[in-house]
Amino acid sequence: MNSRNVCHSLAAALRFGSTKLNRSGWNPSRRCHSISNMSGQLGGQLSYVQRMKMLQNLREKTGITEEVIRRGKCLIYYKGDPLLTDNFSIAWMDFDDLQTEPKLFLENAMLLGMAEGGQFQFAVQIVGFGKESKQAVLSKSQGSFTDFRLSLMMMPTYEASLASKAKAIFNWHRRNTHCAKCGSPSIRNSTASCRTCHKCEEVWYPTLSPVGIVLVADSTKSNLLLVRQGRHPKGMYSCIAGYVDSGETLEEGIRREVAEEVGLTVLSVDYKASQHWSFPTSNLMIGCHAIVNGNETLDVDTSELEDARWFSVEEVRRSLDSIKTNPLETMSAIKEGTNQFFVPPRGTLAHSLIDAWLSG
Ligand SMILES: [Zn+2]
Repeated sequence: MNSRNVCHSLAAALRFGSTKLNRSGWNPSRRCHSISNMSGQLGGQLSYVQRMKMLQNLREKTGITEEVIRRGKCLIYYKGDPLLTDNFSIAWMDFDDLQTEPKLFLENAMLLGMAEGGQFQFAVQIVGFGKESKQAVLSKSQGSFTDFRLSLMMMPTYEASLASKAKAIFNWHRRNTHCAKCGSPSIRNSTASCRTCHKCEEVWYPTLSPVGIVLVADSTKSNLLLVRQGRHPKGMYSCIAGYVDSGETLEEGIRREVAEEVGLTVLSVDYKASQHWSFPTSNLMIGCHAIVNGNETLDVDTSELEDARWFSVEEVRRSLDSIKTNPLETMSAIKEGTNQFFVPPRGTLAHSLIDAWLSG
């Protein structure tokens, strides 16, 4: 059986027996034997489309079964910090190592995604599993719970994206326990992809806000404008960022933010990349490069920014190279609070925008 047929059959297996679920989407009596039969045969990798179709089926039709849980691997959080290996990769754990009931797992876990090899990926917060859970998890793992912000800076991009998604969705569920339409309690589905109002049955999905973030250069392209907010670590200068308002295009939002924060006229905007960012809530960071009229005088909005400065390309490159050479040293500098200029650490979209500009 080739992988295409395997996946077709697996998708069919996931649809099979989709009897009516209870309100939480949990159907303990349903068994999808074909899934476990298939798992040994999958062998090769699944295509992106195959994996997305399977995840969609779980979210929208079948919900999660105990068998799906047992085929999965888990990213564990304790008090908001993920369980990582010594080299900042996710310390994935099997369900059987968690010493918990499937029902309890389902009430606490969310479906994150699916690995290329066909393993379902879950995130779960062990708070709620009992006081001994943290030690129980650590005793069965090679990892340790790592500060969430540090984790995002150090993890591989794909894994950082999973960690950010999990944190944002956990937070959304915590803050949205009641229906915004009628005020009644809402109930999350088994994959944690939405909540349904207990009374009026309105369905609510996790939200995210668009944020424009822009690296500004003058028209000679020999100088870059970087800014710092009071909450930034000492010495760190970053890109201008701000929420896109209702009714604005991305370009309009960026032109407005640059005008408001530093008093410069944007001549051109080019989209470069985007990133999900879960501070302080769930944001879609949309990264751009912009050229401004560098002959204008800076007019810094000190209610938003502590400082804004032009830096030469050479200054910025030196800082970026330093971070690339030793990212952990940079994180130490942030912690200790030196006044030496540095650009945002890797893992941030600001870092990527600066890197792309210098490489371009
Ligand atoms: Zn309602």
